[in-house]
Order: sequence, then C-alpha cells, then structure tokens
Amino acid sequence: MTNYDLVVIGSGPAGQKSAIQGAKLGKKVAVIEKTKETGGSCVFRGTIPSKTLRENALRIKSMRQNAAIANFELNEDLELATLITRLDDVLNALDHYLSDQLEHNGIELIHGRAKFLSANSIEISFVGGGSNIISADKVVIATGSYPRNPQEIPIDHEHIFDSDSILSMLYLPKSLTVLGSGVIASEYASIFQALGVKVHMIDKYPAPLGFLDRDLTDKFVHAFESMGGTWLGETKVNKVHWNGYDAVITECADGQVIKSDKLLCAAGRIANVSDLCLENAGLTLNERGLISVDDNLQTAVASIFAAGDVIGPPSLASASMEQGRRASCNAYAVKLGQMHQTLPAGIYSIPELSSVGISETQAKKQFGEVMVGRANFEDVARGQISDIQDGMLKIVCDDQGQKVLGVMIVGEGATELIHIGQMALLANAEVDIFVESIFNFPTLAEAYRVAALEVIEQRDQHKDAY
Ligand SMILES: Cc1cc2nc3c(=O)[nH]c(=O)nc-3n(C[C@H](O)[C@H](O)[C@H](O)COP(=O)(O)OP(=O)(O)OC[C@H]3O[C@@H](n4cnc5c(N)ncnc54)[C@H](O)[C@@H]3O)c2cc1C
Repeated sequence: MTNYDLVVIGSGPAGQKSAIQGAKLGKKVAVIEKTKETGGSCVFRGTIPSKTLRENALRIKSMRQNAAIANFELNEDLELATLITRLDDVLNALDHYLSDQLEHNGIELIHGRAKFLSANSIEISFVGGGSNIISADKVVIATGSYPRNPQEIPIDHEHIFDSDSILSMLYLPKSLTVLGSGVIASEYASIFQALGVKVHMIDKYPAPLGFLDRDLTDKFVHAFESMGGTWLGETKVNKVHWNGYDAVITECADGQVIKSDKLLCAAGRIANVSDLCLENAGLTLNERGLISVDDNLQTAVASIFAAGDVIGPPSLASASMEQGRRASCNAYAVKLGQMHQTLPAGIYSIPELSSVGISETQAKKQFGEVMVGRANFEDVARGQISDIQDGMLKIVCDDQGQKVLGVMIVGEGATELIHIGQMALLANAEVDIFVESIFNFPTLAEAYRVAALEVIEQRDQHKDAY
C-alpha cells in the first residue's frame, strides 16, 4: 500500500491549492479526482462556463443597444453551444494548465472516487473498474458542493434544470423561469435575459441578493426589468411541472401561473460528501450538512482538514483557494496570520455587483450611526462616455465619517473596482485616501472620489453642528 504524506480529495480550487502548498512544503502528495478532468465544478460547471456565457451575453446586449447602427437579430433556435464557443478552448487551456501545475510540483493525480476506510486509509475506485487502497498521514477534503434540489421541484435536466445542468440545454430557450434570487439565480437570470430570453425570476424574499443593501439590489432589479425580465418577489411557488407538451408550468401561491420553455432551480448548494463514507473516518456532518472545521480548517479528526464549498459559505472559488492553501500549511504547523475577513464578493450578473467589508444595513445594526457616500456612475466622465446606467458605488464609514467599513458597487466593472476598496479596508485607511489619491481620468474609479467627498461633506457638517 502506497503511503502519502498528504492526500487531497478533489481537484477544484481548494484541492489544487492545498496540494500545491503541500508539495511546496516538501511533502509527498496525491490528489484524487473522480472526474476525468481537473479543476472541479469551478472550471467545468460553475464559474468559468457561466462567465464565458456572460461575456457573450454582454456582447449581444451591446449589439442590440446599437441596433440603430446595424440591424441585429439572433438566429431562431440558436444552439446554446454557439454562445459559449470559446468555452472548449478556455476549458482545455485551464485543464492543461492545472494538470501541468500538479505535475510540475511532483504531485500524483489519481483519477478515481475516494472513500474513507479509516481516518488514514482511503479506497480509490477507478471508472474502468478495480480499486486501490492508499494511506495518508494527513488528508484534506476538498470535494466541493452540488445543487440543493428541493423535493417538490421535479428536476429532469431536460426541461427543469439545476445550476450544474443548465448549460447542457441544447438550444437557447425563448423563455426561462428562475427559482431563487441568490448569486447563481441572479447571474443566470440576468445573463439569459440579456441574451433575449424572457426571464421570470421568482423568490419568497422581497429583493434578490438579500445580503446586499437594498439601494444596490433595486438598481439590479431595475436593470433586469429594463432588459425585459420580470422579478416576482415575495412569491411562493406551490408547484412546478412539465406539461408533457410544450411548457414548464410554475404555479404560485398567489394564483399566478407562469409558462416557460425551461426552468432553472437555483436553491443553494450542499456539501458533496455522499461518496466519502465519512463515518469510517470518524467524521459526521453538522446540522447544515457541512463538514465543521475550526479556525485552522481542522476537522474533529486531528489528521483531517477540509476546505472550499464542503465547509460552507462563502462558497467562492477565490475563498476556496486560500482555504486550501491554509489547510495544508496548518496540517504542517506552518505559521500563518489570520485569514483576512475582508473577502470581496463578486456577483457576475448583468450588471455586476460587488461588495467588501460590511453593508450599510449591517453597519447600522452594529454601530448605530454611520456615514454613507454614494456616487452614481453617471456622475463621472467614464460612466457618461460608456453610457453606463444603473451604476453606483457606495462607501460606508463609521459615525465620525473617517474609518471605511465597507464598499458596495453595482454596475459594469464592479468586480474589478471593488479591489480598490478592499485595499483601503486592509490598510485600515480613512476615507480621505480616496480624495487625496490621484486616479486615472476618465475612469469609473473616480466614483470612489465622488462618494468619499460626500462622506467628508457630511463629516464637516457634523463637526459644524457641535
Ligand atoms: C454557476 C456557478 C457560478 C459560480 N461563479 C463563481 C464566481 O464567479 N466566482 C467565484 O469565486 N465562485 C463562483 N462559484 C463558486 C465556485 O465554483 C466554488 O466555490 C468552487 O468551485 C469551490 O471549489 P472546491 O474546490 O471547494 O470544489 P469544486 O470546485 O466543486 O471541486 C470539487 C472536486 O471534488 C471532486 N470530488 C467530489 N467527491 C469526490 C470523491 N469522492 N472522490 C474524488 N473526487 C471527488 C469533484 O469531482 C470536483 O472536481 C460558482 C459556482 C456555480 C455553481
């Protein structure tokens, strides 16, 4: 039986970084991956495919906006695959890059399904039949997540899809119902709407993306509805079924009935642990169906660590990578500082949204009074030049109007622009930094300056009042 210092289960962002870190520490490392590809759902079903489709949706939206210059219509019965034409190239490039990285670092990549026999021994079943047992001093579980499919939604992956299967649709539908209003639901709803599909997005909450402030999500809903989408908030869905002929029928509790070609159920994701036989390793899942870890990403079993979606929120590729790296460092007692709590969140809807630090709502709950500065993208030259509507940047500061507590942005470029705010937060900077720094002109980054000036004005008025 081969023994490894470190065995990593899963080759997604968490597994990759965990394995590479282990190898860099001089350990003998193996990665076990049950699919034939390397990269996890991030590369094959999540982040990369959805963002590739989004890129084309943006282009098509822009062509439609310029229809006065050139007539533009999408072909009837457009194959979805043609809208993600570059996807194969992107995926192949990533697959090669990731496999090369593992090889380059002397990591053994074993394609097979891993299952614990005990805390330190793992059975690998191969796709073509047969199995092998290996042993490991340390294990990092990085098996990711899969869609939570509520029992009452009859997902058949033909008419009614989940977030892993939605891009397997052959043709671009004429209409789509999206159940849910979290990140994945908002991204796909707005991407398909931008492609000209008639989208209904339905959820029981009053606004989508409930962790963001309402002024931002209102702008998102406005943009979505301006493209022709329909947002049905505070709406309970009673029943969904395929009528066996031409439509998916969604019956809502308030009596509305929505007919659409296809339906996407985006009701969150759960830990992907069903194959692992965790009980053999002495592990159990917590009440949320996730693997519990401490601050060191160590599980209840000292030699086993876990990272990525399998341990729950924020369930982002970005966070998963850092957790994976940290899990391996912690397994070998490499000293690390605290993991930064100022993680940015990027929502690649159309328009994009992004946030870092705390929202205005959270800040008010935590501190009572706060000072907030806002800048609409129309207020800066670049926003005007690029004709960006529904764009806004918001800075949340303490009650003295000095310390930056959070930044939130809606509008194209949000997921890049947010890093300026993130650096200010990490540096514990005061809001004045955005006014004292010179940004390129014309850029959307100028919105930081405009919003900061608004905070400073409030601060001055506040001082005058005393
Ligand atoms: C539609 C969608 C869009 C997204 N967009 C973004 C985005 O824009 N930005 C962002 O940061 N995040 C995004 N995410 C989230 C991101 O994809 C995940 O947070 C990330 O992939 C989690 O990484 P991971 O390594 O934990 O798991 P995964 O990437 O899921 O990888 C887990 C791997 O483990 C393997 N595995 C599972 N069980 C076993 C077993 N028993 N034996 C061997 N192998 C096993 C799986 O095959 C898989 O390859 C998106 C997700 C979805 C679904």
